[in-house]
Amino acid sequence: SRAIDVPDRSLVVLVGAAGAGKSTFAAEHFLPTQILSSDHYRGLVSDDENDQGATDDAFEILHSVAEKRLSRGLLTVVDATNVHKHARQGLLRLARRHHVLAVAIVLDLPETVCVRRSTDRPDRSIRAGVVRRQHKDLQRSLKPLREEGFHKVHVLRDESEVNSARVRLNP
Ligand code: ATP
Ligand code: MG
Repeated sequence: SRAIDVPDRSLVVLVGAAGAGKSTFAAEHFLPTQILSSDHYRGLVSDDENDQGATDDAFEILHSVAEKRLSRGLLTVVDATNVHKHARQGLLRLARRHHVLAVAIVLDLPETVCVRRSTDRPDRSIRAGVVRRQHKDLQRSLKPLREEGFHKVHVLRDESEVNSARVRLNP
């Protein structure tokens, strides 16, 4: 199995297109209260997790909850696509402000897998074109991501790497 080392007071930033398996990965490796999901907050402010018009409000709340958790020194995991530099930078700023390390876990699965998984879901209304675009944005992000200020960038490239990953919390 593959160990993913995570400082136990860090900000973990999941990165991946829709369907890459971010929420599944988070649920498997972290406590529910540690996971801040953009979809969850979209739902809270709009009654519709798919309402993209609720994105700004959702992230405002997500950031503010992350802020409160980090100020208590609590491990915090952001479950959002984070395929855009702008989104990652906001999170990196937050981590810096609270003197915690940010760790990226990138689910870089093949485009076909992301498209199939996300369009198969009955609870999602996401178009294949949107998923392909996110996948492309991620490919463009992969190299620069390593210089954005993350303490560590872990990249998982296929289902077997994802399924054999083990998160190891370090004091
Ligand atoms: P979104 O950005 O839309 O929230 P996501 O990255 O959170 O997507 P998940 O919801 O975790 O993706 O997974 C999408 C679908 O793929 C789900 O139906 C899930 O069961 C399946 N899936 C996720 N991870 C795996 C895996 N490791 N092996 C097989 N199927 C998986
Ligand atoms: Mg999800």
